[in-house]
Amino acid sequence: MAEQSPGFYRYKVGSLVVTTVLDGSSARANPTQGFVLNADSAAVRSAILDAGLSPASLDNPYNVTVVQTGRQTILFDAGTGGQLNPAVNRIPANMAAAGLDPAQVDIVAITHFHPDHISGLTSAANAALFPKAEIVVPAAEWAWWTTEGNVPRTPEAQRGVFANTRRRFGPYAGRLRMLADGAEVAPGIRLVAAHGHTPGHSAYHVTDGNQALYVMGDCSSRPELFLRYADWYSVVDVDGPMASASRKRLFGRAADERARVVGFHFPFPANGYVARDGGGFRFVPTEWSSAV
Ligand SMILES: [Zn+2]
Repeated sequence: MAEQSPGFYRYKVGSLVVTTVLDGSSARANPTQGFVLNADSAAVRSAILDAGLSPASLDNPYNVTVVQTGRQTILFDAGTGGQLNPAVNRIPANMAAAGLDPAQVDIVAITHFHPDHISGLTSAANAALFPKAEIVVPAAEWAWWTTEGNVPRTPEAQRGVFANTRRRFGPYAGRLRMLADGAEVAPGIRLVAAHGHTPGHSAYHVTDGNQALYVMGDCSSRPELFLRYADWYSVVDVDGPMASASRKRLFGRAADERARVVGFHFPFPANGYVARDGGGFRFVPTEWSSAV
């Protein structure tokens, strides 16, 4: 069988070297049924067709992002660890192809605790996969998923996140750092609250000189749906209206700042720019450049 080229893409934000690394892609069957909660299936179907995608099955890609500051290597989200879907297990090979070593990662900054973002912190046997990394998490996200009293206030389909939170962060006890909105991960890199997708979901604003990147996590999953139709929210958003409000605020800032954005579930290489378009946004994918 023919092999695909390694899935990593490199760009610069000021003097920072940024690499987006593909974990793989799964398929959502029948995305017009029950996925978008506040639009009827005909509207979702035409959005998918307008984008040239298939209403029978929609890819759900997974991408993590690495920032090398010269002093530190910072990974944003840990991916699936190959433990959720056998087709989504490319981070080790793609990081290696990019010359990135998990053992050299200094900080793993997490956007939220859904399993596709934190399961890659540990192996199937639950050993730490980033042996020297400090783990940075949004304080609000940590507070939600470590408070037993929140279980009945959480959608039933997401209650497994409580146990997976204990499991995946367990091996990192003593090297976890909780960040409030606006707090610094490292010089020039700050957490930006974007609650709604989960109660403490947050993005990261990465700046150097006059350039900026927003690591958007799941502010929007597929841009053809939730960026284009920014009012829409999905079955995996814990608080849909709040997720939509956060998305408009964050992508609005990115558009105004002409900042680059990278989305965890955007189609690889998952980064580019956004422009306001009616009530939503247009995603302008990055272009290949030999100059990094
Ligand atoms: Zn996700």
